[in-house]
Amino acid sequence: MGFATNLQGQTAHEALLGRQDAEIKLLETMRRCLTTKVKSDREYASTISSLSNQGKKVERDADLVGSLITQGWRDIMESIDQTAKHIKQQADSMESAVVEHIGTLYAERRRARKLYQEEQIWLNNQFQQLTDDVARKKTEYQKSLEMYKVARSKFEEHYVKSGRGGRKLDDVREKYQKACRKLHLTHNEYVLLLNAVAECEHDLRTYYLPSLLRRQQAIHQEFIVAWKRILQDTVKYSDFTTEKFLEIHARMRAAVDSIKPLEEYKDFITKHRTRPASPLRLTFDENLVDDTSGKLLPYKLTVDNLTIDWLRSRLNELENCLKTTQQNRLAMQLINENNSDPSKMTVLDYSREREELRLRCQEKKLQRQAEVIRGALNELGCEELPSGCDLSMEGSFAEPPPIQKVPSRIDSLTNSQKGNGDLMEEEWFHGVLPREEVVRLLVVEGDFLVRETMRNDESQIVLSVCWDGHKHFIVQTTPEGHFRFEGPTFPSIPELIMHQWKSGLPVTSRSGAILKTPIFRERWELNNDDVILLEKIGRGNFGDVYKARLKPCETEVAVKTCKVTLPDEQKRKFLQEGRILKQYDHPNIVKLIGICVQKQPIMIVMELVPGGSLLTYLRKNAAAISQIEQLRMCRDAAAGMSYLESKFCIHRDLAARNCLVGFDSTVKISDFGMSREEEEYIVSDGMKQIPIKWTAPEALNFGKYTSLCDVWSYGVLMWEIFSKGGNPYSGMSNSQAREKIDAGFRLPAPDGTLEEVYRLMLHCWEYEPEKRPHFDQIYTIVERLCQVYSQVKIV
Ligand code: ADP
Repeated sequence: MGFATNLQGQTAHEALLGRQDAEIKLLETMRRCLTTKVKSDREYASTISSLSNQGKKVERDADLVGSLITQGWRDIMESIDQTAKHIKQQADSMESAVVEHIGTLYAERRRARKLYQEEQIWLNNQFQQLTDDVARKKTEYQKSLEMYKVARSKFEEHYVKSGRGGRKLDDVREKYQKACRKLHLTHNEYVLLLNAVAECEHDLRTYYLPSLLRRQQAIHQEFIVAWKRILQDTVKYSDFTTEKFLEIHARMRAAVDSIKPLEEYKDFITKHRTRPASPLRLTFDENLVDDTSGKLLPYKLTVDNLTIDWLRSRLNELENCLKTTQQNRLAMQLINENNSDPSKMTVLDYSREREELRLRCQEKKLQRQAEVIRGALNELGCEELPSGCDLSMEGSFAEPPPIQKVPSRIDSLTNSQKGNGDLMEEEWFHGVLPREEVVRLLVVEGDFLVRETMRNDESQIVLSVCWDGHKHFIVQTTPEGHFRFEGPTFPSIPELIMHQWKSGLPVTSRSGAILKTPIFRERWELNNDDVILLEKIGRGNFGDVYKARLKPCETEVAVKTCKVTLPDEQKRKFLQEGRILKQYDHPNIVKLIGICVQKQPIMIVMELVPGGSLLTYLRKNAAAISQIEQLRMCRDAAAGMSYLESKFCIHRDLAARNCLVGFDSTVKISDFGMSREEEEYIVSDGMKQIPIKWTAPEALNFGKYTSLCDVWSYGVLMWEIFSKGGNPYSGMSNSQAREKIDAGFRLPAPDGTLEEVYRLMLHCWEYEPEKRPHFDQIYTIVERLCQVYSQVKIV
């Protein structure tokens, strides 16, 4: 089966040409593709070569000394570099052995096709030539035949006409003979030509054409052999599994195999070996508690009335949190124990293990905090909660209705419980005297007293002792209704206290406190039952004010009560007024008679000043008040204030509403709720409820109070007196008044005010406090005016 016998026809010839064209196209495609492959391989080789070079440059190399992972990585990078080199070599070979050969093959293929086509054309031309020759000869033959026929007919015509002679006949004969020879010659040539053509055509068809096709076949096959070789080379140079590559891969594998996770940090550990981590020492900065007079101790929880509720709820919170944390930790621990093989641990397992450790830490923290709180609470034992703040009032005061009596623990005790007489009758029982007062009374080691306190609506009897500071013990009640501390029980509290005192044993072993000297009630401490409230005469900041009768001498007194709803700070202020007034004795200062803290409600008992508040008095009696009376009121107030100034007491709320009017219109300074016994007092906790229109600018602007601030207020008080109870800065808001004063505005003189008096007012309102007069100077001026104007009146 070859070209020669099978591909002689015209269509086969055309198909062969078409085939060759297709093969040439295929070669073109191959050359293009393989050129691209060579290019890509080279680029790939260059990319991985440069990345391997980058990879080999390990940052912070010094920190990785001895690391097997690092060595493994370097070997891999080296191998990748080697791979890159081989890929490049293969690409080079592909270019020289394949791409260039394809080029050659392509050129040869085109040349061969051209030759084949030329041969074919030549052969066809030969056949055409033969056909043309025969056709030409045939035409010549037909022409000769025509001429012969014409010559013969002419000769026959002349022969008939002229007989057998004549010249003309000779010509005609000769022409006839020539035409005859010509015809015969043409005939022969035709015959010869046909023989030759037949021979030639046979030869071309049976010999030349087959040999042409045979040659073509040989060329084609040779070409395919070369082509195959090229493809073999293509495969060869595309092979990345050759020995060389396998060798490189084997090196890479070996590099990875040489990594021993257990040995990775061997060198590192040797190089950086240190001692075990030392504990982080976080110490309590003892400077922090320097100024807390031993109330706050380093590292010790403070258990007092301010913190107890917080500590309990914190403990509760901690215990709940601890429970949840423990449960979570145990659940996590269970899961982790099931996955304890480290070689099979996944990232998830590690995160679970980490979670367990964190929960453990959290649990420890919570446990420790709960332990500390529990310890501190247990330590307290039967000791009463210490007061967190010396100034705060503890317990709560019942509403101070005049009739209703708040039941106290003492009232609820049976007669037998009261034993040894009524506890109330014991001189060392101080009723609901606030703790800070108690602390003030207990001065010498062993001094003691008993008092009542309220906590969470529950009355408790407390033994307070001066012992290593001050200790307060709550009297414990047994289920049988007996009383005790740590030792034996007694049917009544006086018996318990007597035993404790006489035995000389410590109240609790922890405190070691021993009772030595009972401290009796002060003369100020009145018995609540001796105060009979009669009628309400006023309403103060803390509660209502009553007219009352004081037994046993039946004196009429004024009694101030404290509202239960007020915050501790206000309650403290309430008693502070009593504490301050207790020290003063002056006809122009309202007198303190005593305080009722035996039981609730707490009351301050004062002299009854019958005219009530000066402001009301001025307004009510405006028509009747004379100038001399006004001057005397000013003098009285100045006398009282001068006395206070000499005692370094700053009133801070001097105003007509806070003065009282006694017999003969004597003015008495009252309402010491805001007073301070200091030369200078700086307000740091805001300026709430400040009587702006009575307060000096330096107190408003800088919170700085001195007696000279009281002088400013005194000026306003004078203005109130002379305006007979007018409203200062009327029509202005507090802030407007403040702004105007800062801008230099001063209240105008009320109608009919004496010039000297107004001058004194203005003097009191000097913006710079140092320019203001002191109260003794004021008193001197006003007293002189009083004298002058009383004489004028007499005259
Ligand atoms: P607080 O200091 O609580 O504001 P005040 O001292 O202003 O109370 O008293 C309120 C009112 O009670 C006064 O305006 C006055 O009418 C009356 N008052 C207060 N103390 C006495 C007293 N000692 N004698 C007569 N009335 C008084």
